[in-house]
Amino acid sequence: MNALNIPTITLNDETEIPQLGLGVFKVDPGETERIVSDALEVGYRHIDTAAIYGNEAEVGAAIAKSGIPREEIYVTTKLWNDRQGDAKAALSESLDKLGLDRVDLYLVHWPVPSQDTFVSAWEQVLDLREAGLTTTAGVSNHELEHLERIIEATGEFPAVNQIELHPEHQRQELTAFCRANGIAIEAWGPLAQGKSDLLTLPQIQEIGAAHDKSAAQVVLRWHIENGTIVFPKTTRRERMEENAALFDFELSETEHAVLTALEAGRNYSTNPRDM
Ligand code: NDP
Repeated sequence: MNALNIPTITLNDETEIPQLGLGVFKVDPGETERIVSDALEVGYRHIDTAAIYGNEAEVGAAIAKSGIPREEIYVTTKLWNDRQGDAKAALSESLDKLGLDRVDLYLVHWPVPSQDTFVSAWEQVLDLREAGLTTTAGVSNHELEHLERIIEATGEFPAVNQIELHPEHQRQELTAFCRANGIAIEAWGPLAQGKSDLLTLPQIQEIGAAHDKSAAQVVLRWHIENGTIVFPKTTRRERMEENAALFDFELSETEHAVLTALEAGRNYSTNPRDM
């Protein structure tokens, strides 16, 4: 099985992450093994899952059956909110399900400010990195004030912050802080989770037509050109191929600016401050 030729981003711990992967949020466990197997066959080598998705075992089964050497596949999973006091046991359970002895990236999934245990969760994830159970330590859904607290408490900058990000929700202040501090940005919901009319906007379709690409490819290419890491979710093999065909065209400056101008401060999922 040949890997797609996907560029990598160098993280602040000097490791490399493929800039494109497959996300498996809301992928039914009964379908996950087939979907991840398809993605590996198509040439994806980066899978983004989480304990709460309930499909780590099926992700692991697909990886095992693929026969692809472990070091060639980048695997991310996440610490769920009710395990922030118990990260070591939580990651051990995830590793058992995945059938792996380490993940490449472990993320504190949400800060959950009402619970106020995210600093301790971050400290535990750093310990798990020292123990070799995750190669890289990162966070997800962390707002500026959460990043500032974990950095102040530990002196350690997360390698990534995985946040809701798409043309209608660009998080300028947060992403500027991350970029200035060497925290790579991973976009979740890069296609706005299919909840917006983004892919039917005439201006995006026109740009696609000019390059013989779909609206989804135009949006994903915009993320890639911003240096963002993406793992669009799809259950369909043909869309896995489509979503990975991003590296044979470029948006002009004007085209890129058309997408940037869609900023509307509009998020389609939970605001991390409200949890
Ligand atoms: P996405 O923005 O990736 O959108 C997925 C939707 O877009 C699905 O309905 C899919 O439908 C559709 N789609 C995919 N490709 C195309 C295409 N080429 N053309 C048209 N429609 C398409 O949303 P996600 O929420 O899934 O985000 C991606 C990943 O980010 C998740 O899978 C997960 O790994 C991660 N994530 C992390 C969160 C966090 O809190 N850290 C929260 C949410 C997601 P279909 O399957 O039918 O193709």
